[in-house]
Amino acid sequence: MSATLLVVEDEFAIREMLSFALEDAGFRLKQAATAEQAQAMLGNELPDLILLDWMLPGASGVEFARRVKRGEKTKDVPIILLTARGEEDDKIRGLDAGADDYIVKPFSPRELVARIKAVLRRSGATPVENSLELGGLAIDPISHRVSAKGATVKLGPTEYRLLLHFMQNADRVFTRNQLLDSVWGHQVIVEDRTVDVHIRRLRKALSEHGMEHLVQTVRGSGYRFSEKE
Ligand code: CA
Repeated sequence: MSATLLVVEDEFAIREMLSFALEDAGFRLKQAATAEQAQAMLGNELPDLILLDWMLPGASGVEFARRVKRGEKTKDVPIILLTARGEEDDKIRGLDAGADDYIVKPFSPRELVARIKAVLRRSGATPVENSLELGGLAIDPISHRVSAKGATVKLGPTEYRLLLHFMQNADRVFTRNQLLDSVWGHQVIVEDRTVDVHIRRLRKALSEHGMEHLVQTVRGSGYRFSEKE
């Protein structure tokens, strides 16, 4: 569910810095040190966005960007160029080659994350969902971050998906079976009781922020998320 980014950067230290910052922001990361390596990786699973260094050994970032934008399968994958250069000419060359945005080193991880989110939203290539805020609880489907009045709420992956489903359908009551279908998927065989276990974990995580009342039991029916008592 989180967006996958392909980082193409030959400098190990920068790649490490990027993967640390971006994984921390909730993105899934794939890394390539050269354009050739990145090209080979595109043959498998397409990323949601490519972060591309301008200066690469072998094929340059700009050449690679052109190749991506020419590829029938890859042309819709947005690209953000990373560069040490700030000249207007380079910017234009980069955007001409098909890059969707351009960021000059050094940049703050925060700025980079904001630019990535903006490009992902604009591209619409992936079902990027808007963040939601209800009852003081905020959830961001891009970064998978959940916060309660600004404080991070730590959730397991299932609890996160449950909460996202609830918040996207606030005030709606779901039976255990409906939750199993929507949150776990049809192919998974789990008992109804599993739902209760994860609801309990979700409430426990929320209770640390005094927000467990948001996940409500509806007797005889199931569960719902609501700001109302
Ligand atoms: Ca480089």
